[in-house]
Amino acid sequence: MIILKGAEVSAKIREQVQEMLEGLGGKMPCLAIVRVGENPDDLSYERGAMKKMASFGLEARSYSFSGDISHEEFKEEFRKINEDPGVSGILLLRPLPKHIQEADIEKLIDPDKDLDGISPVNVAKVFAGDATGFAPCTAEAVVEVLKTNNIPIAGKRAVIVGRSMVVGKPLAMLLMKENATVTVCHTKTSDLAGTCRMGEILVAAAGRAKMLDGSFVGHNAVVIDVGINVDDSGKLWGDVDFESIKDKASMATPVPGGVGAVTTAVLARHLVLAAVRGH
Ligand code: NAP
Repeated sequence: MIILKGAEVSAKIREQVQEMLEGLGGKMPCLAIVRVGENPDDLSYERGAMKKMASFGLEARSYSFSGDISHEEFKEEFRKINEDPGVSGILLLRPLPKHIQEADIEKLIDPDKDLDGISPVNVAKVFAGDATGFAPCTAEAVVEVLKTNNIPIAGKRAVIVGRSMVVGKPLAMLLMKENATVTVCHTKTSDLAGTCRMGEILVAAAGRAKMLDGSFVGHNAVVIDVGINVDDSGKLWGDVDFESIKDKASMATPVPGGVGAVTTAVLARHLVLAAVRGH
């Protein structure tokens, strides 16, 4: 089984970012990472994103707010960041605390600064196959892993486990745009293992550590593991039981070191794209 390393895909995106930066005539794009509270997953993602921006030579600022900030107060603060001409793009870490209505913020965010595709405008564009919209970075990262490794998508059966707005659903749209035949699975899917085995491309995005073992993987399938699950000792696990698929899959992404590294690289590309468009 070939291991599809995220670092190699990220390095290619870095080259694209450098080329795009040259077209900006010295203007430095700035990412605003907006966080409410101290959720360990958010802090870890924020650290990863800051590190990636620094390694790509891009600027990033962290805007953090107390977990008990009121909805109205957060909306006001968010509006200021959104309207700041020095901010080229925004990453809002989610989920937000329950008392803040995410839908309000999704409607508020400037679609041209919405790097993770949460605004209704970008959701609609991704649905319509309009490439001017920003897709959620993780969904785009999956397609990037496939394309960079020259894995054919057109005409292939792609099975996705997970139907969230951040991974499963937008990914289904992106893969369909690439002419895959897409099946989306969820907790009510009957015969999940049998359905997964049909996939020539199998994407795991359920958020359940090691849930997909070899019995879910068809012969020679390409397996992309989006899952990031942290155990009590702080160790990261994917949704795929990597050891048990080794004799089944032809290629697979590891966790860590797979899709996660590509997601932040796609975020960097979105940032520079936003700056180029706003230039
Ligand atoms: P989510 O919102 O919790 O959605 C999980 C989806 O998986 C749901 O659609 C759920 O089905 C389905 N699911 C859960 N358990 C299942 C099971 N036993 N059988 C079949 N389907 C099942 O999660 P998410 O935000 O999409 O994230 C998914 C995973 O990706 C998580 O591990 C997350 O940490 C990771 N992630 C990684 C990155 C990255 O950069 N690599 C970025 C974002 C997320 P229902 O709809 O029926 O509930």
